[in-house]
Amino acid sequence: MNANLELSWIIWGGVSILLFFGVIVPFLQGLFGKGFICSSCGYKGYPKKSIKYGGSAAMEIFLWLVTLLFFVVFFPFGIILLLVSIVYSFSRISNKTKTSICPKCKNSTMIPCDSPIGKKIEKELQ
Ligand SMILES: [Zn+2]
Repeated sequence: MNANLELSWIIWGGVSILLFFGVIVPFLQGLFGKGFICSSCGYKGYPKKSIKYGGSAAMEIFLWLVTLLFFVVFFPFGIILLLVSIVYSFSRISNKTKTSICPKCKNSTMIPCDSPIGKKIEKELQ
């Protein structure tokens, strides 16, 4: 009885280890991919996320400075400018774009290593 119980534990242990290395590890590797390769500089790894806002930052800063100035010097006009600035800031935030860039050359040319083009570049670099 006791020996049987131990044997079943060994079998289940073996099965779960096999399951872990045979199913879960390849699944996780498939999920995260084999990494990315940059077609511009050949960097291998993971791309960096970069967030770009629409419009220009200089324009936004200028608008807010003018708003501040008008608020202090010509109060009623300041309110109109404040509204303009808020609308501009919101339009910049709503126009943001997320891009994946190469951490080495900053180009958005990183492609998955396991794609046909990625494999071709990897081969050429070797
Ligand atoms: Zn690169």
